[in-house]
Amino acid sequence: MAEETNKVQEWKEKLFLQRKHAGIRMTEDALKACDAFCEEYKAFMNACKTEREAAAFFERNLTAQGYVPFTPGMKLHAGDKVYLNNRGKAIILATIGTAPLTEGVRLCAAHIDSPRLDLKQHPLYEQEEIGYFKTHYYGGIKKYQWTAIPLSLHGVIIRRDGTKAEVCIGEDESDPVFYITDLLPHLANDQMNRKLAQGIKGEELNIVIGSMPFRDDKGSELVKLGLMQLLYEKYGITEGDFLSAELEAVPAFRAQDVGFDRSMIGAYGHDDRVCAYPAFAAALATPAPVHTSVVILTDKEETGSDGNTGLQSSYLKFFLMDLGDCFGLNGRAVMSASKCLSADVNAAFDPTFPEVTEKNNCAFFNHGVCVTKFTGARGKSGTSDASAEYVGEIRRMLDDADVIWQTGELGKVDMGGGGTVAAYIANLDIDTIDIGVPVLSMHAPYELVAKTDVYAAYQAFRAFLAS
Ligand code: MN
Ligand code: MN
Repeated sequence: MAEETNKVQEWKEKLFLQRKHAGIRMTEDALKACDAFCEEYKAFMNACKTEREAAAFFERNLTAQGYVPFTPGMKLHAGDKVYLNNRGKAIILATIGTAPLTEGVRLCAAHIDSPRLDLKQHPLYEQEEIGYFKTHYYGGIKKYQWTAIPLSLHGVIIRRDGTKAEVCIGEDESDPVFYITDLLPHLANDQMNRKLAQGIKGEELNIVIGSMPFRDDKGSELVKLGLMQLLYEKYGITEGDFLSAELEAVPAFRAQDVGFDRSMIGAYGHDDRVCAYPAFAAALATPAPVHTSVVILTDKEETGSDGNTGLQSSYLKFFLMDLGDCFGLNGRAVMSASKCLSADVNAAFDPTFPEVTEKNNCAFFNHGVCVTKFTGARGKSGTSDASAEYVGEIRRMLDDADVIWQTGELGKVDMGGGGTVAAYIANLDIDTIDIGVPVLSMHAPYELVAKTDVYAAYQAFRAFLAS
């Protein structure tokens, strides 16, 4: 760097926006607290790999903390704690504040579904004496990344008689895992000439699930029969029960520290449980908020938020209306006065692929939680674009609470883009802004985040929910 006079340095310090690595900014104590929080986060990640498992985890912990199921019309007072479980796939929790609900709620929204491979309704088949499950991928994935890695299977099967079998296999070290094959390089000449997007095609994502036959000399499909016999013994299901099942194959990897300095975490599904968990933890750490705090941990974001567990449905609106009713208030007025942080991850700058981001306006690892004024693609299409006034308010709130934060946009203009649930919440006439943890290799089977950014997200949500 060229030498500068004291005067230049002085004025630069006064006028320029300063950026500094969290590892320099944070105190030793804060770094210790950050590490401790990230241990909790990793344990959560290993226990919950799907929206159903996350929702069940949250419900268990809420009940333990004195939260009770919300019922319309119930009498509520400051300090009361309620939650709503939407079909086992999404959770809303609310802690009643001291301020009247006419001042709105402080809403934090994150999603607990992640890209994965869903089983089709007729999944089971046998080919050349190998047993398989057919899949249909869920969310935006690079399909080639999902081959040749250990997979686990999670979900539910509703039997013909209405009873439910819960499935979670491949997570325990003693469990078997599942697998999607890829071609050996020696025979991949044709495949290597496919475009990357076609490297592995959707109908090639077939999961190997077994290879031993039902022991008898005569008959066809003996491997399929052998597998069905095992499933019958373990889960009490017949082939028809797959028709009413939701089974999700996800990477069997465990969340683990990454790097000699253990400064990062590798895990499946940081997007968006790396915001969901801190938002949840922030709500539990804020038992006496001024404004009623609401955290919504939703499903179906990765497929566009449609469906009755996604945020394009009315379940959040209905909850806020019912909450208003409890105080004799019009739900519409509650919504119009509310403020929201749409907590979802953003892409971190990747030094190996610098060409997709614009360095002045992207998020960096270890520079804190990332505030994103607008999302969308091609001329901000599909964004809610937070107002300057609201950005100003959030900026003051974060600075006053000494939260380490940055701003960033998802990639260069016209490079691609994407949206979050922010627009659907803003459409309810709620001030909304995107904020979240920067991620590397987003939507890959194993994603990367920096620990200080996870902790900064937790601190940001705490400051917001307490306000
Ligand atoms: Mn997301
Ligand atoms: Mn995503």
